[in-house]
Amino acid sequence: MHPAIPHLVDLQQLDQRIAALRAEFDGLPKRFREADAKLTGAKSAVAAAKEAHTHAQTQRKKLELDVEQWKERAKKYREQSSSVKTNEAYKALQHEIANAEREAAKLEDLVLEQMMASEEVEHRVKHAEADLKEADTAIGAEKKQIEVQYNEKKKLLETATAERSLLAAKVPEDLLELYSRISRKHPGAVMAEVRDNQCRGCGMRVLPHVVQVLRTETNEEVFRCETCGCILYTLEPIPHAAPAADAAAAPANGTTHSE
Ligand SMILES: [Zn+2]
Repeated sequence: MHPAIPHLVDLQQLDQRIAALRAEFDGLPKRFREADAKLTGAKSAVAAAKEAHTHAQTQRKKLELDVEQWKERAKKYREQSSSVKTNEAYKALQHEIANAEREAAKLEDLVLEQMMASEEVEHRVKHAEADLKEADTAIGAEKKQIEVQYNEKKKLLETATAERSLLAAKVPEDLLELYSRISRKHPGAVMAEVRDNQCRGCGMRVLPHVVQVLRTETNEEVFRCETCGCILYTLEPIPHAAPAADAAAAPANGTTHSE
């Protein structure tokens, strides 16, 4: 295995951590905006309820004025009816009085309805205001928490980035360049372990002689998977102690098994 491989494996782990941190970090402003949007929703609910309340008040006042007008009219007709000369004119005025009183009564009913509706709207305003107060507190806390996370993640990212520079400095430039090149295409999937003669990056078979060279401690050659292009490494025990033992035993074995 190339001596820089362990550093590259560490580098990949670190890069994965940095990528996860960055994703969380980059998502924070959006969460912040979403929290603000929730508050905007609660604020518009209050505004809408208040507007409905004002509308109901205006409607009621208008109806009350109409009631007054019809009552005034009835009063005027009644006054006139005392001075009419003909029976017919008297009857016509009585008819007008009845009509005006009916209109006034009808509108008074509406005023009552409007008062009830107004109470309901008032209740809605209070409810919306309480909701807003609650949302304001909750969202304030949420935003503060996001800010804390933002600072935390920022610090973690800075530390990890510094750690990465130190680690990258241990890797020869050409190898680091190769790593970066693969990383740009397949972020976080540059290094692949070979286990049971298989590339763990893609599952394809790795040539036995490659596996063998990978296990050789003195090897400085870098191998890439022919299928997925990952830089290959092996964690399987480097059998350098075993061959030595084999070598010691070889002469005896060698002689007994010689053809
Ligand atoms: Zn592969």
